[in-house]
Amino acid sequence: MRLPIPDPPYEGGCLCGHVRYRLDARPATMTACHCDACKKLSGGTNLLVITAPRDRFHHLSGEVQRYRRTGESGRQSDVVRCATCGTRLWHEPLSFPIVTLAAGTLDDPSWVVPASEIWVERASPAAIFHSDATRFHGQPPRDDQIAAFQALYGDDA
Ligand SMILES: [Zn+2]
Ligand SMILES: [Zn+2]
Repeated sequence: MRLPIPDPPYEGGCLCGHVRYRLDARPATMTACHCDACKKLSGGTNLLVITAPRDRFHHLSGEVQRYRRTGESGRQSDVVRCATCGTRLWHEPLSFPIVTLAAGTLDDPSWVVPASEIWVERASPAAIFHSDATRFHGQPPRDDQIAAFQALYGDDA
Protein backbone atom coordinates (compact mmCIF):
# COMPACT_ATOMS: atom_id res chain seq x y z
CA MET A 1 0.00 0.00 0.00
CA ARG A 2 1.29 3.46 -0.85
CA LEU A 3 0.84 6.17 1.74
CA PRO A 4 1.01 9.82 0.70
CA ILE A 5 4.48 11.31 1.10
CA PRO A 6 4.48 13.58 4.15
CA ASP A 7 5.87 17.09 3.87
CA PRO A 8 9.56 17.47 4.78
CA PRO A 9 11.55 17.65 6.98
CA TYR A 10 12.28 13.99 7.61
CA GLU A 11 14.52 12.93 10.48
CA GLY A 12 16.39 9.74 11.12
CA GLY A 13 19.47 8.13 12.56
CA CYS A 14 21.39 5.00 13.39
CA LEU A 15 20.59 2.09 15.66
CA CYS A 16 22.59 3.31 18.68
CA GLY A 17 21.29 6.88 18.39
CA HIS A 18 24.61 8.75 18.08
CA VAL A 19 24.15 9.76 14.46
CA ARG A 20 21.14 11.91 13.62
CA TYR A 21 20.23 13.61 10.33
CA ARG A 22 17.52 15.75 8.81
CA LEU A 23 16.37 16.00 5.19
CA ASP A 24 14.59 19.20 4.20
CA ALA A 25 13.48 18.17 0.70
CA ARG A 26 10.87 15.84 -0.72
CA PRO A 27 12.51 12.80 -2.36
CA ALA A 28 13.27 12.85 -6.08
CA THR A 29 13.36 9.04 -6.34
CA MET A 30 12.43 6.02 -4.23
CA THR A 31 14.28 2.91 -5.37
CA ALA A 32 14.86 -0.67 -4.32
CA CYS A 33 18.31 -1.78 -5.54
CA HIS A 34 18.93 -5.50 -5.98
CA CYS A 35 22.60 -5.26 -6.97
CA ASP A 36 25.22 -7.44 -5.33
CA ALA A 37 26.84 -4.51 -3.49
CA CYS A 38 23.52 -3.59 -1.87
CA LYS A 39 23.08 -7.18 -0.76
CA LYS A 40 26.50 -7.07 0.89
CA LEU A 41 26.08 -3.63 2.44
CA SER A 42 22.58 -4.27 3.75
CA GLY A 43 23.03 -7.92 4.62
CA GLY A 44 19.57 -8.42 3.14
CA THR A 45 17.97 -9.09 -0.24
CA ASN A 46 18.05 -5.47 -1.42
CA LEU A 47 18.36 -1.88 -0.27
CA LEU A 48 15.52 0.65 -0.23
CA VAL A 49 16.71 4.22 -0.74
CA ILE A 50 15.42 7.72 -1.39
CA THR A 51 17.47 10.41 -3.10
CA ALA A 52 17.36 14.17 -2.66
CA PRO A 53 19.58 17.23 -3.27
CA ARG A 54 22.62 17.02 -1.00
CA ASP A 55 22.44 20.69 0.01
CA ARG A 56 19.07 19.97 1.64
CA PHE A 57 20.52 17.17 3.77
CA HIS A 58 22.01 17.86 7.21
CA HIS A 59 24.17 15.58 9.34
CA LEU A 60 23.15 16.79 12.81
CA SER A 61 25.22 14.75 15.25
CA GLY A 62 27.41 11.72 15.83
CA GLU A 63 30.74 10.58 14.43
CA VAL A 64 30.59 8.78 11.07
CA GLN A 65 32.95 6.58 9.07
CA ARG A 66 33.26 6.79 5.31
CA TYR A 67 34.07 3.99 2.90
CA ARG A 68 34.78 5.09 -0.69
CA ARG A 69 33.39 2.53 -3.09
CA THR A 70 33.96 2.26 -6.84
CA GLY A 71 30.91 0.86 -8.64
CA GLU A 72 30.80 -1.26 -11.78
CA SER A 73 30.29 1.96 -13.76
CA GLY A 74 33.59 3.28 -12.41
CA ARG A 75 31.76 6.01 -10.50
CA GLN A 76 32.66 6.45 -6.85
CA SER A 77 30.52 7.11 -3.83
CA ASP A 78 31.14 7.45 -0.12
CA VAL A 79 29.21 5.00 2.03
CA VAL A 80 28.57 6.70 5.37
CA ARG A 81 28.05 4.68 8.56
CA CYS A 82 27.82 5.33 12.28
CA ALA A 83 31.32 5.06 13.78
CA THR A 84 29.87 3.40 16.89
CA CYS A 85 27.21 0.91 15.78
CA GLY A 86 28.06 0.55 12.06
CA THR A 87 24.57 1.27 10.73
CA ARG A 88 24.79 2.23 7.06
CA LEU A 89 22.95 5.55 6.79
CA TRP A 90 23.55 7.28 3.47
CA HIS A 91 25.71 7.43 0.35
CA GLU A 92 27.25 10.52 -1.22
CA PRO A 93 27.97 9.92 -4.92
CA LEU A 94 31.03 11.88 -6.02
CA SER A 95 29.58 12.51 -9.48
CA PHE A 96 26.11 13.84 -8.49
CA PRO A 97 25.15 16.50 -5.89
CA ILE A 98 22.65 14.19 -4.25
CA VAL A 99 22.34 12.14 -1.10
CA THR A 100 21.14 8.53 -1.24
CA LEU A 101 19.48 7.80 2.07
CA ALA A 102 18.86 4.29 3.38
CA ALA A 103 15.10 4.43 3.97
CA GLY A 104 15.14 2.08 6.95
CA THR A 105 17.10 4.64 8.97
CA LEU A 106 14.26 7.19 8.82
CA ASP A 107 12.37 7.60 12.08
CA ASP A 108 9.20 6.92 10.07
CA PRO A 109 9.98 4.83 6.99
CA SER A 110 6.36 3.72 6.50
CA TRP A 111 5.73 5.98 3.47
CA VAL A 112 8.76 4.73 1.49
CA VAL A 113 7.63 2.21 -1.12
CA PRO A 114 9.83 1.81 -4.20
CA ALA A 115 8.79 3.52 -7.42
CA SER A 116 11.73 1.85 -9.21
CA GLU A 117 13.21 -1.60 -8.83
CA ILE A 118 16.73 -1.72 -10.28
CA TRP A 119 19.19 -4.52 -11.06
CA VAL A 120 16.15 -6.83 -11.11
CA GLU A 121 18.06 -9.49 -13.04
CA ARG A 122 20.13 -10.00 -9.88
CA ALA A 123 17.19 -10.03 -7.49
CA SER A 124 17.07 -12.68 -4.81
CA PRO A 125 14.22 -15.19 -5.14
CA ALA A 126 13.25 -13.97 -1.65
CA ALA A 127 12.77 -10.36 -2.83
CA ILE A 128 9.25 -8.97 -2.97
CA PHE A 129 8.27 -6.76 -5.89
CA HIS A 130 5.60 -4.08 -5.92
CA SER A 131 3.42 -4.39 -8.97
CA ASP A 132 3.22 -0.69 -9.79
CA ALA A 133 6.97 0.00 -9.50
CA THR A 134 8.94 0.30 -12.74
CA ARG A 135 11.46 -2.51 -13.13
CA PHE A 136 14.86 -1.85 -14.68
CA HIS A 137 17.69 -4.14 -15.67
CA GLY A 138 21.00 -2.79 -14.40
CA GLN A 139 21.44 0.80 -13.34
CA PRO A 140 19.03 3.07 -15.26
CA PRO A 141 19.75 6.76 -15.86
CA ARG A 142 18.74 8.91 -12.91
CA ASP A 143 16.16 10.72 -15.07
CA ASP A 144 14.35 7.41 -15.66
CA GLN A 145 14.07 6.84 -11.91
CA ILE A 146 12.78 10.40 -11.42
CA ALA A 147 10.16 9.79 -14.15
CA ALA A 148 9.09 6.53 -12.48
CA PHE A 149 8.67 8.39 -9.19
CA GLN A 150 6.72 11.25 -10.74
CA ALA A 151 4.41 8.85 -12.56
CA LEU A 152 3.24 7.55 -9.17
CA TYR A 153 3.55 10.62 -6.95
CA GLY A 154 3.31 13.65 -9.25
CA ASP A 155 5.73 16.46 -9.86
CA ASP A 156 5.23 18.86 -6.96
CA ALA A 157 8.73 18.59 -5.52
ZN1 LIG B 1 25.10 4.34 15.85
ZN1 LIG C 1 22.70 -1.42 -5.33
